[in-house]
Amino acid sequence: MSIQAEYVVIGAGPAGLAAAGFIAKAGARVAVFEGRPRPENVFGSYPVVLNARGLAALESLDPAVVAKAKEIGLSVKELHIVPGNRTVAKVPTYGTCIMRDQAAQVLLESAEAQEKISFFWDHKLTGIDFETHTCTFELPDGSKKTVVAQRLVAADGNRSRVRRLCQEHVADFSAEADDWGFQLRFMNSKGVDGQTEVSPDTHFVLGDKGYVCLQPNGEWSISLRVLPESDEEFITGEEATDANVQKLKEYVQTHAKFVADNLLDDEAYRKYYDCRAFGGVVVKCSCLNPAGWICLIGDAAHAVQPATGEGINSGLEDASVLGAALKEHAEDPFAAFDKQQRPNAYALQKLALEAKDRVTQPPPRQQAVNVMVTIGLAMAKKLHIIEGTKQDFMLGEKAQSMGVKSYDELVSMDERQTSKIRPIANALATIFRVPKEHPQAQKQS
Ligand SMILES: Cc1cc2nc3c(=O)[nH]c(=O)nc-3n(C[C@H](O)[C@H](O)[C@H](O)COP(=O)(O)OP(=O)(O)OC[C@H]3O[C@@H](n4cnc5c(N)ncnc54)[C@H](O)[C@@H]3O)c2cc1C
Repeated sequence: MSIQAEYVVIGAGPAGLAAAGFIAKAGARVAVFEGRPRPENVFGSYPVVLNARGLAALESLDPAVVAKAKEIGLSVKELHIVPGNRTVAKVPTYGTCIMRDQAAQVLLESAEAQEKISFFWDHKLTGIDFETHTCTFELPDGSKKTVVAQRLVAADGNRSRVRRLCQEHVADFSAEADDWGFQLRFMNSKGVDGQTEVSPDTHFVLGDKGYVCLQPNGEWSISLRVLPESDEEFITGEEATDANVQKLKEYVQTHAKFVADNLLDDEAYRKYYDCRAFGGVVVKCSCLNPAGWICLIGDAAHAVQPATGEGINSGLEDASVLGAALKEHAEDPFAAFDKQQRPNAYALQKLALEAKDRVTQPPPRQQAVNVMVTIGLAMAKKLHIIEGTKQDFMLGEKAQSMGVKSYDELVSMDERQTSKIRPIANALATIFRVPKEHPQAQKQS
């Protein structure tokens, strides 16, 4: 016999756990189904930053959750942009650096204390009967369990099974999932004893090459961008041969000398080759409430790539918007959610594609235009022509001091701010004959 549930959440990641909390807070019973076992090692994951948006969403769920996240996380004060060993920008930042699984753990402990939420670990969703609202789960021993859900919240991540099933079975629903275009690999290290040059409350963007920050467990996280098609063996390879390790050391020394000198030792370089490469997709859905009784949230609805810095924050915001919709539009909360969040999901996808350009080496003219637009905006800010750029209202401290703006507002603000600078930058790049295509692409055509 099938289990009956009022609300079913698929996925116990940050978005799913927060959604379960908000659903219970609205007075409904909710069953969370997660394909993996209950997590134990929170440091097996990667660091993320809870910014003003994510923290505001958690605050509206339970101030104790924010307090706990801040207690176990590390405050981030500045973001330094350091391409090729040169610091070109220092951005005042507001946020808490925490491991993705630590954030989930804080939400999990809060959810487990609520009697309206029940958990089903090791339950992997494999199918949905859209007519009868029946979800089928596979258990580790190969057995199956079915659950009939009145309403289903899909928080099953960027490769969402629910989203794919909706694509196959729900008329008028479609979704795009475009590869990040790069991968990430991580090195962890305790750092050189007594080093004071690299500040623990600053995060560093190594241009398009990587990202550096201190994790809450006291280890430095150095992530490197991998382009599987074009990078050399010492970046893409899986064997810590002496030649690979030597080239990797030289690479870090060239692009981030402060990292090579202060943070990394031989073991960290060798362990790079044990780290799997993380990849992902950027997602855009035609709507967020396919079939009416299903609601897509978090990465399932609008996965971005890490350079956007909004993955976890947008998922937590979704949960909070869903919580408000449950209270204010009890008759059809998912339609209300879709109405509010679809424009934001589309704007977020736009931000993600722009962020991708900063990581994947766009053609020279595009790069030149991007640099000129960035310089133009920085000047406009200095002259108080604009109050801040979109980044200032995402990871920047303006999101805290002046209020969080929706992604839709941010994209409109950016379009207004760059509407005059971008054509001028384009014209200059054309006059100075900056190539439109990469030199290799030009040779081939
Ligand atoms: C390498 C890397 C670095 C990142 N860096 C950042 C960063 O710096 N800042 C930032 O904001 N974001 C970052 N992100 C993105 C961020 O981790 C995600 O946006 C966030 O975790 C999304 O939360 P979610 O709950 O929607 O999905 P997820 O965290 O992916 O959780 C989905 C859950 O659903 C479960 N699940 C999947 N399929 C099924 C199924 N069929 N049945 C049952 N359960 C299922 C999964 O096991 C998982 O627990 C990064 C991501 C990666 C990979």
